[in-house]
Amino acid sequence: MQPRLQHKTALITGAGSGIGSAIAELFAQHGANLALLDLELGAVEQLADRLHTSTGRHCVPLLANVTDAAQIDACFAQAIDALGRIDILINCAGVNVFRDPLDLQASDWDRCMDVNLRGAWHCISAALPSMLAAGYGHVVNIASVHGHKIIPGSFPYPVAKHGLIGLTRSLGIEYADRGIRVNSISPGLILTPAAERYFETCPDPAAERLRQAELLPCKRIGEPSEVAYAALFLASDEARFINATDLLIDGGRSQLYHA
Ligand code: NAD
Repeated sequence: MQPRLQHKTALITGAGSGIGSAIAELFAQHGANLALLDLELGAVEQLADRLHTSTGRHCVPLLANVTDAAQIDACFAQAIDALGRIDILINCAGVNVFRDPLDLQASDWDRCMDVNLRGAWHCISAALPSMLAAGYGHVVNIASVHGHKIIPGSFPYPVAKHGLIGLTRSLGIEYADRGIRVNSISPGLILTPAAERYFETCPDPAAERLRQAELLPCKRIGEPSEVAYAALFLASDEARFINATDLLIDGGRSQLYHA
């Protein structure tokens, strides 16, 4: 296997679970040294140990809440100290906030926007100065199919994910002539601990899982590694002419009309 991220460094937020963990695993297999940031320190410590043992890569676990700009600045300084630089930033930390719009508390709105949108901006603004100084950097934001299509009952999550795609396009253009690319990935339903938690809120979790699979043209739910392969491509130099755009990974579901 030809490693596609050899001599590269990446900081991945939300690396402690689901899609973020799968991206970390694939990036380490492809030669990247990693900073793994999450609210759950134990999860990123375990992952860092496991990936170091299996791939020999340098993996630094970092505890931070992406909503706290000071914590994020401190973590980026620590990551640059440990890894030398950050070539790639993957913004994967995110939370589902699904409410009836008229029952929505101000705190729900704030949490949704702070984690899913402002958090990504905190990380990009922490990464940009050193990326601009190097004239090199790739950012991949993990958005969602909710940033393209609306599923009733999921407010205000789609508002944040539309914003994240807007952030991607806006910053991609802003820094395009200075060696920085900013793209996003919009996954459809992917089987992660967050998706499992959603199924558990349903009266019949197994039936809901089957119903969701049935809605997809390919009749199955996506896997975290399938998003990780797209992140690997977008974060690599293979994608050097791809900027300020979004890649949907939803098994084709969002192209269906009246499914
Ligand atoms: P997950 O809950 O399994 O993992 C999310 C990780 O982010 C967790 O380790 C959590 O601790 C971390 N995190 C949450 N808030 C944080 C914060 N404030 N600061 C730092 N870390 C924080 O979720 P997942 O399903 O792997 O989702 C990952 C990303 O993919 C999210 O942005 C989500 O919106 C997006 N997404 C998921 C799906 C899906 O079906 N699973 C679909 C579309 C988009």
